[in-house]
Amino acid sequence: MDLEIITIGTELLLGFTIDTNAAHLARALASVGARVVRRTTVADRAEDIEEAVRSALSRTGFVITTGGLGPTRDDVTKRVVAEIFRRPLRLDRAYLAELEERFAKLGRKPMPEANRSQAEIPEGAVVLPNRWGTAPGLWLEGEPGTAVLLPGVPREMQGLLEHELLPRLKEKLSPFQTGLTVIRSRTLRTTGIPEAALADRIGDLEPELAPVTLAYLPGIEGVDLRLTAWNLPPEEAESVLQRAADLLRPRLGIHFYGEEGEDLAGVVLSLLKGRSCKLAVAESCTGGLLGERITAIPGSSAVFLGGVVAYSDEAKIRDLDVPRQLLVAHGAVSEPVALAMARGAARRFGAGASLAITGIAGPGGGTPEKPVGTVWLAACLDGAERTAKLSLTGERDDIRRRSAQAALNLLRKMLLGQS
Ligand code: AMP
Ligand code: MG
Repeated sequence: MDLEIITIGTELLLGFTIDTNAAHLARALASVGARVVRRTTVADRAEDIEEAVRSALSRTGFVITTGGLGPTRDDVTKRVVAEIFRRPLRLDRAYLAELEERFAKLGRKPMPEANRSQAEIPEGAVVLPNRWGTAPGLWLEGEPGTAVLLPGVPREMQGLLEHELLPRLKEKLSPFQTGLTVIRSRTLRTTGIPEAALADRIGDLEPELAPVTLAYLPGIEGVDLRLTAWNLPPEEAESVLQRAADLLRPRLGIHFYGEEGEDLAGVVLSLLKGRSCKLAVAESCTGGLLGERITAIPGSSAVFLGGVVAYSDEAKIRDLDVPRQLLVAHGAVSEPVALAMARGAARRFGAGASLAITGIAGPGGGTPEKPVGTVWLAACLDGAERTAKLSLTGERDDIRRRSAQAALNLLRKMLLGQS
């Protein structure tokens, strides 16, 4: 089934609020085989909402809106949609009583007058109870189609989506089809290889992946490969995705590190845990970002001992035992200093494994020999040592994030016995 999404809110158009609802809805709808064919965002203006809803219904006959269901004057979605369906608003006494009771329980008595309007329901609409807030969702069916109205607050929208909308859609969709079909995706994550090089490696496989489609999703930390199976029964979607992933993985080689939301830091931690090896880090230009990545993984305390943020030369000497003459001879951003930092971290923390990062994140500080984006990494693992030089592009934040990712990848490759 095809449908459209309309997200309503002036703050979305101003860019103050990022439209997470549309993305969340689209992903969830795909899982029950409902295809989002268009997304529209409009301001909290009755004319704009009316035009958007009418034209969406004229194209697909099914529209889902979020936002504008609150108790304030700028919340007009319900009134506008009720008019489109020619349904008068009627006070739902049962819902009003429920609202009043909820406010009383919270010790907020009397209920603000403005909330009364939330108990006004378009005639014939199905109320989708909202346990997470005060604005109920609404399901209106008739001429000119079906409109589902959801609140804008993401937590409330998600609650209604999961508990009210998806079950109803599943029920609605299955009788029309020989069985429920789904749009399902699977992600293979790569790092350390640019998008174009990746395409050279796997491009010729694309026809073989059919009916699964392949999308390249480049990000700061690597390129994700998203495989998608369209409009298939769930088991068949699973099996074609499995087959496609099995075809791709060997071609990706060492660049493949995980699936779905798996984080490279988590992968490195499990590899270290598998050989009972502890980790310490020494960071200069990343200023703790590597430690943040590592400690964001639950259970990291079993492996991670700690780190030193040694930003100045003096801190590198004092806290990591980097010899002063190395800094004088080679500069802080150099292979010998990166290695000395990694050794210092391993020794100071008594860790079998360590990582060090020193680089020029910019925008200032670059020289012809060491331009912005020059980063040296070093890793120690049970007596073995490795270094790598990166020449990164991008903003300060990009360079820092890429450095942390590349450092983790350096250690991962050592752990897997690859250079
Ligand atoms: P509303 O139901 O329109 O009063 O929205 C309430 C709050 O939900 C707004 O202040 C926004 O912060 C948030 N919100 C509304 N629409 C969206 C959206 N599409 N994506 C993410 N947040 C939203
Ligand atoms: Mg709003």
